[in-house]
Amino acid sequence: MSLVLFGPPGAGKGTQSQLMLDTSDMIHLSTGNLFRDAIQNKTPLGVQAQSYVDAGKLVPDSVTIGLVREFIEKNKTADLIFDGFPRTIPQAEALEQQITEVGASPIDKALFLEVPQKDLLERLSGRRVCKNCGAVYHVSNSPPKKDGVCDNCGGEVYQRKDDASEAIKTRLEAYEKSTAPLKEFYMSKGLFVSINGLGTTESVFKRISPFLKN
Ligand code: AMP
Repeated sequence: MSLVLFGPPGAGKGTQSQLMLDTSDMIHLSTGNLFRDAIQNKTPLGVQAQSYVDAGKLVPDSVTIGLVREFIEKNKTADLIFDGFPRTIPQAEALEQQITEVGASPIDKALFLEVPQKDLLERLSGRRVCKNCGAVYHVSNSPPKKDGVCDNCGGEVYQRKDDASEAIKTRLEAYEKSTAPLKEFYMSKGLFVSINGLGTTESVFKRISPFLKN
């Protein structure tokens, strides 16, 4: 059984998938994390992806789909969580095809994290992230105890380049144009589940947990 977790930027995909991992044996793919690691390590993939990610644009399907194939092949016997992938209809079609070809766990549900746009803007513009462990903070709702220092690991807490206001606008536009149509795609396959993404991290996770395999 595999799950897709999708939604607009700032809906809480990263936070919720971390909780999903902590409470199940599932294996996680976050294409966003994959691109950020590649950029930080200046790998060829990072060089290719950086201008798109920094500007808040989607990395081209030709690059992204290839990465996911590698992941599926490596983890074909596991139950998988796809976080931030697919983000376009061609990616969703490729994912289905690859799962079938490789014989990996089929998608059981596509969980859509629903959050109104005004809340997304507030969350994204105040978001800060640990460069080392990825812990997520917010300048006013949940700041680290010591300014700029991660509570968990002491790493540097920073603002992602694509959380700056111009990039946020581009990301929301890319979401509306390319990712929102996935709702209908998964509805037509009977896999779509809408999850209310408002409230505390724990209350959102309670709505997700019935769909997890332990
Ligand atoms: P995220 O951490 O999921 O918000 O992703 C950060 C950025 O990585 C996005 O704004 C895109 O530039 C890129 N990215 C992540 N996943 C994808 C994807 N499935 N397709 C294209 N670009 C992606």
